[in-house]
Amino acid sequence: MDEAWLVPGAAGLSGLAVGRLLNIYSTRWPIDLPIISPGSRCSECSSAIRWYDNIPVLSWLILSGKCRYCSMQIPLQYPVVELTSGLLCAGIFMIHGLSGEALRGSVFLCLLLGMSISDARFYIIPDEFSLGGTILGLAMSFLPGGIGWVSAVGGALVGYTFLWFIAAAGTRIIEKISPGRLEEAGLDKAMGGGDIKMMMMVGSFVGISGVAETAFLGSLGGLIVYGPVATLYRRLIPFGVFLAVAGAITYLWGDAMMDWYLTHIMGLAA
Ligand SMILES: [Zn+2]
Repeated sequence: MDEAWLVPGAAGLSGLAVGRLLNIYSTRWPIDLPIISPGSRCSECSSAIRWYDNIPVLSWLILSGKCRYCSMQIPLQYPVVELTSGLLCAGIFMIHGLSGEALRGSVFLCLLLGMSISDARFYIIPDEFSLGGTILGLAMSFLPGGIGWVSAVGGALVGYTFLWFIAAAGTRIIEKISPGRLEEAGLDKAMGGGDIKMMMMVGSFVGISGVAETAFLGSLGGLIVYGPVATLYRRLIPFGVFLAVAGAITYLWGDAMMDWYLTHIMGLAA
């Protein structure tokens, strides 16, 4: 292997292992299942899973997605999440090289991935990801190349407050337009507290302007992709999934988007 591939390669392999953990945490934290000896037993036949059947992606392929003992289907989610986090980590380390910023970016994107799974499956964003993530975001802002603690604290505060207001306003609007709609969906608010805490975590990683970009992109995506679906099928919107994608885009291309906006829309010279 070429030396230039060593760092992204190692980061990718670590990312695969992190994906394995994300699969476990994102599906156990929301429903308060214990995280003891993660993934060591088949949920169907309780057979102990041997180490060679527990290798990210590879084992799933070798076993063709079935338990070795009882042939229960292992969800496609497992290899897909492992592969995604592996590629994300490899990509970030390829961009930033072996650095604090690469670590910060990888942690951020992996947290977003874990939150998306929880939200998509259970409509819950566990505090372990959002509050734990905020602490990580604040701590990692000190790393070389990081956004600095002032931006991180500011981003977290603005993220929380901003989404709190959006949630309050959204609740009022929905109650006005279609009374009883929220009650029907078993909700008392337009947006869960999970989304609000998630945005605090996003802010701690991308700062105040990042919060604005993430909220804008997330709402836009939610409206375009999920709005019609939710209206037609009366399904809840896992808004956290859109916020996660928006947060990732903001982290990766936020500065470029802001430059483009300021030059082309606002007419300011860069
Ligand atoms: Zn089994």
